Amino acid sequence: MLTGQCFCGAIRYETGERIRNQTLCHCTICRRTSGAPAVAWFTVAAEDFRYTAGEPASLRSSSHGTRTFCPRCGTQLTFTDDATPHEIDVTTSSLAQPDIALPRDHVFVADALHWPDDLPRYQHSRSES
Ligand SMILES: [Zn+2]
Ligand SMILES: [Zn+2]
Repeated sequence: MLTGQCFCGAIRYETGERIRNQTLCHCTICRRTSGAPAVAWFTVAAEDFRYTAGEPASLRSSSHGTRTFCPRCGTQLTFTDDATPHEIDVTTSSLAQPDIALPRDHVFVADALHWPDDLPRYQHSRSES
């Protein structure tokens, strides 16, 4: 069983280990609902997923999609599409062990921010030398 939670811990979930579609999504809706340049997701069967603590807030983010968030800390948790109600997408970074669902591809790259990836890298904050 995989477990995950929002940042503050008010919402917790568990899901089966049959995961697929591990991806990094660059669509504008993921970007704007997270405030991040891209969002990592994986897909599970809806019947394998359940909340074990708290009740998430939901947002109709398009004509066919619904997203859930922690109402307290704002962490985005799931996406469901009206066309595929039997499956649920879960944010990889909300997992207790995100490396279990390593992204295998990028989707919606047509919408991606074209930021350089050859920037200086620091182990922690830039102020530490
Ligand atoms: Zn929270
Ligand atoms: Zn997206």
